[in-house]
Amino acid sequence: MTRSDARALDQLRPVSFLPAIAPHAAGSVLVSFGNTRVIVAATLEESVPPWMKYQNVPGGWLSAEYSMLPYSTLDRKRRDISSGKLDGRSSEIQRLIGRSLRAVVDLEALGPRTLWVDCDVLQADGGTRTAAITGASVAVALALRKLVAEGKVKKNPLRQLVAAVSAGVFEGTPMLDLCYVEDRDAEADFNVVMTEKGEFVEMQGSGEEATFTSEQMTAMLDLARGGIARLIEQQRAALAAADAPAGPEALAGLAGLFGGR
Ligand code: UDP
Repeated sequence: MTRSDARALDQLRPVSFLPAIAPHAAGSVLVSFGNTRVIVAATLEESVPPWMKYQNVPGGWLSAEYSMLPYSTLDRKRRDISSGKLDGRSSEIQRLIGRSLRAVVDLEALGPRTLWVDCDVLQADGGTRTAAITGASVAVALALRKLVAEGKVKKNPLRQLVAAVSAGVFEGTPMLDLCYVEDRDAEADFNVVMTEKGEFVEMQGSGEEATFTSEQMTAMLDLARGGIARLIEQQRAALAAADAPAGPEALAGLAGLFGGR
């Protein structure tokens, strides 16, 4: 089986993290999984949602928003604001991103503030939700690192990193990190979210006008587990390299990123 981009079955697309892409955010990153690119920005608001106040829930909250920029797809995608409502897919994806991050952030340690995680797809080529979660983990880590440096929290609320990847069955063969052409024709498609400790946060898996066997499911989960371990290594490297926020340098890096391909 030769993949459309000649990758091995257990190979991720080239992954990169470009931090400080949005200098006004507390933490931000442009994450790329091959030709899928997502801008993720984490912003802190010094208030909590009303329901937390009414129910006397201690600590803070984390909420995510996801959208595809109109020019992220081959055919222009209308902004939700133009149609007057958030589409069902975006709503499902942003709730997944929120749950994934809340699984690794100690909300009580965050204090009475809201951490907003904004994910905007710059270029879509399959796996935008998994790239968004993987990038969000880096953006949130950067934002919380800043909160600690400013002395606003006693301990870092980030318990561990989280990452996500897709795996699917295409022409009967299980494979990792599907790009759009693979995703479109896959018989089964799984999105897997796991933490640094190797525990699952969520699995979304379905047969797409087809069925899958338990052996194929095990193969997909094993591929995803291996891919996520590699993604977490790359997140750690990106965080180690991103000690100083850099506006102009980030833009220079962006030019390099697009020019270099
Ligand atoms: N896609 C698109 N327009 C849409 C929705 C999806 O072009 O309105 C493409 C896009 O490349 C996306 C892929 O279809 O990455 C797979 O979409 P899916 O809903 O499975 O989510 P994703 O894999 O991006 O998390």
